[in-house]
Amino acid sequence: MENKTRDMEIIRAYKFRIYPDQKRQTAIDNSISLSQRLYNKLLEKTIEVHKSNSSSKISQRTINQFLNEIIKEDKTYLQLYAHVRVDIRNRLLKTYHNFFRRCQQKTSGANIKAGFPRFKSKDRFNSITHIENNGSFSIDKGRLRASKIGTMRIEQHRNITGNVKTMTIKREGKEYYAIFTAEQILNSPKINDTNPVGIDLGLNNFIALSDGQTIQKPKFFKKKEKRIARWQKIIERRNKGSKRRQKAKLHLQEEWKGITNQSNDFMHKLSDKLVHGGFTSFAVEALYIDNMVKNHRLAQSIQNASWNRFIHMLSYKAESAGMKVIKVDARNTSKECSNCGNIMDMPLSIREYNCNRCGMRLDRDINASINILHIATTLGQRGSHAQGENVRPQQEATLEELRTYPANAGEANDL
Ligand SMILES: [Zn+2]
Repeated sequence: MENKTRDMEIIRAYKFRIYPDQKRQTAIDNSISLSQRLYNKLLEKTIEVHKSNSSSKISQRTINQFLNEIIKEDKTYLQLYAHVRVDIRNRLLKTYHNFFRRCQQKTSGANIKAGFPRFKSKDRFNSITHIENNGSFSIDKGRLRASKIGTMRIEQHRNITGNVKTMTIKREGKEYYAIFTAEQILNSPKINDTNPVGIDLGLNNFIALSDGQTIQKPKFFKKKEKRIARWQKIIERRNKGSKRRQKAKLHLQEEWKGITNQSNDFMHKLSDKLVHGGFTSFAVEALYIDNMVKNHRLAQSIQNASWNRFIHMLSYKAESAGMKVIKVDARNTSKECSNCGNIMDMPLSIREYNCNRCGMRLDRDINASINILHIATTLGQRGSHAQGENVRPQQEATLEELRTYPANAGEANDL
């Protein structure tokens, strides 16, 4: 091992339950619905601009201008904390960025949809964010204070390390949460990459490793998947806008939360084990939210969401220990023979790669994990999660990602 260290900035999310009384609850609910209205109003205005000239990109300046206009016309929006309004602008701007980026990718031949930003319904808008830690919120003696909302009890079950950057208040069903993001500078040892491992999101297994290990998918997944599917059907059956449908949605959210908590526990243990398993870096399959939204198979979407959370956990744990996590485009990794490079069709029903060229026989997931490792090694150092882009507080986004009712891709990123 070399004796070098490197500084690394990481951002982590901390999520705590809060207990607003009736008055603060109303204040939160009002802020959220006011924000939703503001978002949709801004979107409406920008759509007009886009309609009149589809080649003009919607800039921050344009949205700011509209924001000012709207506030001038309707002073109710001043009830929102100023930075919460800026956050709404940012969310819309991000949605447009994604849209334009995808348009561009499409123009250059990528086979993707570029959905135009959509209006957000009430149940797709459930949080407000203070984008800067400037005294507009604070925790003191078990109580959270937030500007324009008030003070309420917070269940802070762990300490926040690093500098707090943002605070989000989120409504999940009947519960309320505060989510803080904090930036931490890590000084981690630099490790010689002598024992990299490839990890495949398994079909037979939860994961398969390129050294031949496999980790079974826990049994609770199947059970929960069934219950989620059941509620999903009930929701579809019930009339839009009805109270009973709303109720069923709350049930569905509860189920998601259940599976999220259970799988988090499982994945925390597994990622700990991997990080302490003698490996020096990890090559994993990159799954994109875009794919997830397109994917209508429920079991698959649950697995994809868990996979993303798992990679997030593995990333921050590995990176704290000075190891890289390299995400690769894993298309074809299950079709390719890891021994001779032969490409064969591998329908989902086939559990073993049985190469018709070199005769290699191997569990299909292990074969894929070896290919993933190969790609990462050939790519060289494309950088890992935390070093490249920001580490998003992905655990907290899970509930959004997990929704199976129609979602648009941009929204899945929101807290
Ligand atoms: Zn072969």
